[in-house]
Amino acid sequence: MIENRNFYINGAWVPPVKARDHDVIDPSTEDVCAVISLGDQADTDSAVAAANAAFPGWAATPPAERAEYVKKILAQYQARSEEMAEAISLEMGAPIDMARSSQATSGPWHIEGFLTAFDEIEWVRPLGSHAPDDRIAMEPIGVVGLITPWNWPMNQVTLKVIPALLAGCTIVLKPSEEAPLSSLLFAEFVHDAGVPPGVFNLVNGDGVGVGSQLSRHEDVAMISFTGSTRAGKAISAAAAETLKLVTLELGGKGANVVFADADEKAVKRGVLHCMNNSGQSCNAPTRMLVERSVYDQAVETAAEVASKVGVGPASETGRHIGPVVNKTQWTKIQDMIEVGMNEGARLVAGGPGLPEGVNRGYYVRPTVFADVRNDMRIAQEEIFGPVLSIIPFDTEEDAVQIANDTPYGLTNYVQSQDGAKRNRMARALRSGMVEMNGQSRGQGAPFGGVKMSGRAREGGVWGIEEFLEAKSISGWSGADD
Ligand code: NAD
Repeated sequence: MIENRNFYINGAWVPPVKARDHDVIDPSTEDVCAVISLGDQADTDSAVAAANAAFPGWAATPPAERAEYVKKILAQYQARSEEMAEAISLEMGAPIDMARSSQATSGPWHIEGFLTAFDEIEWVRPLGSHAPDDRIAMEPIGVVGLITPWNWPMNQVTLKVIPALLAGCTIVLKPSEEAPLSSLLFAEFVHDAGVPPGVFNLVNGDGVGVGSQLSRHEDVAMISFTGSTRAGKAISAAAAETLKLVTLELGGKGANVVFADADEKAVKRGVLHCMNNSGQSCNAPTRMLVERSVYDQAVETAAEVASKVGVGPASETGRHIGPVVNKTQWTKIQDMIEVGMNEGARLVAGGPGLPEGVNRGYYVRPTVFADVRNDMRIAQEEIFGPVLSIIPFDTEEDAVQIANDTPYGLTNYVQSQDGAKRNRMARALRSGMVEMNGQSRGQGAPFGGVKMSGRAREGGVWGIEEFLEAKSISGWSGADD
């Protein structure tokens, strides 16, 4: 069993001020796989103080030097990618092959994207020819608190830590207490890359503890948060007193609009995408909207595809899905499956209970509901498990209306071979992202939502600029350009 009770503060691994052990549970077996510590106010204060002390020096470091450190972090990461895949697979249950091919590799992919975007940042830029002595200087916000979830741990950590470093901010990272092992490893990469003490700090803890302490802290200038809408609201309220900037990446209930002229793999692709990572992705296409003329066929295909999705332990190789992260999530998903059945949706695959032959581990049967109405709870609430709701529609306007009738607005999807229709849909859907015909976003595209999905933009130039403030300067001497 792994024991790692230390925090990374001011360039060193330090024990918690007060011992508070926390078991990390392997969701495949329900066994304790690691013990970490939960931090207290004193640990939070010490990490914030280190970040605060390091800020002036780091902010004054030439941007190109900061990029060199990030390149060294990338090299560390690439050399130890297998360890990262194993840590993620153990802590949150991603099957090892998927942990290798998507979970762990999402980190370097984002880091490379940020390094490309970094070259496009103009740190001191002209306002315009109408004001020749004006400049806009892009300056780091200060000490930032980064609070991340367990479902795509390194995706989220790199989407925050790397742009903050490049921007010149100093950092206190609080990863999810459910999945801290990957972040502890990431801290080793940062240390071995030689990043100066105090620039990056990590304190483990829970939401009510370190999470809210960072949110309230008067020396923290910004909180960048990814997680549930519930916690996003709590953080915003806690941060109000100090008026710190809060950026939020929250939940989703993505619509996948399948028109009658969609390509023949569209339904299968949509089901597998929904089930990927055991349905634990904020951008999962969990509502499949199908044009009525192809509805019956789509339901049949979806049921068949879902019933063939294997479920098994994270340590096993192969293309199955793993367990969900913990008992609480498992129970919540089971409740929602019951809700769907009671609401009158037609269960066509999966259902409540553990998969056949399984009696240990937080496994959920890949489940598909047909004949769902968009006002049902299973269509409105984020389930965060492998559960798909299929809803029929008649016209393009109908599809837009149903897709947009949700509190969320993260990613929507469109399947059609009619380019003009796709483009109309892309503009009409109320979400931060629209992905069409199975084509995923390019590297450096901004990731984020609208409405209750939050309003941050992570990745690429947008992601770096989240950590920068624009300073207006007039009377600038051109001699310095
Ligand atoms: P969560 O909100 O319970 O926890 C996320 C993080 O916030 C954890 O580190 C947790 O300790 C901390 N936290 C919890 N309550 C807090 C509080 N009151 N104050 C400060 N910090 C607090 O979410 P989760 O269960 O870990 O993750 C799942 C959720 O994250 C889903 O709703 C999912 O949609 C969302 N998510 C969103 C995105 C996105 O980019 N939009 C990406 C991944 C996950």
